[in-house]
Amino acid sequence: HPQNQINVWMPGSTIGILGGGQLGRMMILEGRKMGYRFVTLDPSPDCPGGQAADRHITAGFEDVEAARLLAEESDLITYEFENAEDTVVEMLESSASLPQGSRLLRLTRHRIREKRALEGAGIPVAPYRKVTDPGVFREAVNSLGFPCVLKTTTGGYDGKGQWVFRSWGEVEAFHGPEPEREYILEKWVPFVKEISVIVARSVRGEVKAFPPAWNTHRRQILHQSVVPAPVEPSVLERADALARRVAEKLDVVGLIAVEMFLLEDGTLYVNELAPRPHNSGHYTFEACVTSQFEQHIRALCGLPLGSTRLLTPAVMINILGEDTEQFQRRMTDLPPEVKVHWYGKMENRPGRKMGHLTVLGSTLEEALATAERLQGTLP
Ligand code: ADP
Ligand code: MG
Repeated sequence: HPQNQINVWMPGSTIGILGGGQLGRMMILEGRKMGYRFVTLDPSPDCPGGQAADRHITAGFEDVEAARLLAEESDLITYEFENAEDTVVEMLESSASLPQGSRLLRLTRHRIREKRALEGAGIPVAPYRKVTDPGVFREAVNSLGFPCVLKTTTGGYDGKGQWVFRSWGEVEAFHGPEPEREYILEKWVPFVKEISVIVARSVRGEVKAFPPAWNTHRRQILHQSVVPAPVEPSVLERADALARRVAEKLDVVGLIAVEMFLLEDGTLYVNELAPRPHNSGHYTFEACVTSQFEQHIRALCGLPLGSTRLLTPAVMINILGEDTEQFQRRMTDLPPEVKVHWYGKMENRPGRKMGHLTVLGSTLEEALATAERLQGTLP
């Protein structure tokens, strides 16, 4: 695109966010520093994003009229989750400025479409089969072997809508798949580590990637992200190149998080994509020159991207519903290199992301040791 056709939104412009969760909240906290104004749309009147926004619209994600109101009040629009209704997203795309477009959202909210797009871009993914009914399911298990994991193609997050199978006995005992739903069966990847790279591509086509994070999960929910990822330099380089390739080939605008599996022999498979700020990038708030949230805003508003240089080693720890009581007891003797993020969610449920801690250190060993001490009292 010629430079003069690219919109630049200066500080003072209003950014509308579809969704009012913690990702929206952190986008707002960063954007406000730069003087942007924010309107959020979310069904919950007191959501994390709404608490930080200039204005909040309480409405469902299927409410086209409410989305139209969001568009009217905003100079540009972004989203913080993938599951908005197509009709809403299409309306926003046609009536307002949605710099990210709707194509990437449509791809990444559907696991099979996403895998096909990745394959089309020459990016390795785990072997998979589309599953539409119990007969096809058994055939797919037969061809992929054990272990394998069945996932709903849409609507899943934090391991929800996923079932792992290790034997035919487990397949027999499984009540499903539901006939009306579409699923994907994936071969279980015997990874040695999971890593992720968040990369930004601006409306001007500029691309910058953040340093790869090493992620560990508890019950399929992200538990900890460690940066710099303790892997060979050649793995870091390849992870960076893969993520950039995804951003370029899929014409990304804004952020895309690329989750990867690292195998014993050094192979990297892409697991999944998220076209938004990502939990594994929260460390950038304190540990990089530019946070993922600021980068997202710069990318959408047509500003030059900020440096992604790592300033310090960091360990990000998620605080889930079941951790909050112990965490609150720890608050009074928090080590000085620990930064607290609390999302202001009203309801505390097990497995729900309530906040996170970022542990810094002059070396990674130091940060890891502090993180371990801190978690001595967590479950
Ligand atoms: P979501 O994050 O949307 O819940 P993911 O596909 O990322 O879904 O799955 C969550 C976690 O489950 C992954 O980070 C990984 O730890 C594990 N997992 C998912 N699919 C596979 C697979 N094919 N092989 C090995 N582990 C997997
Ligand atoms: Mg994931």
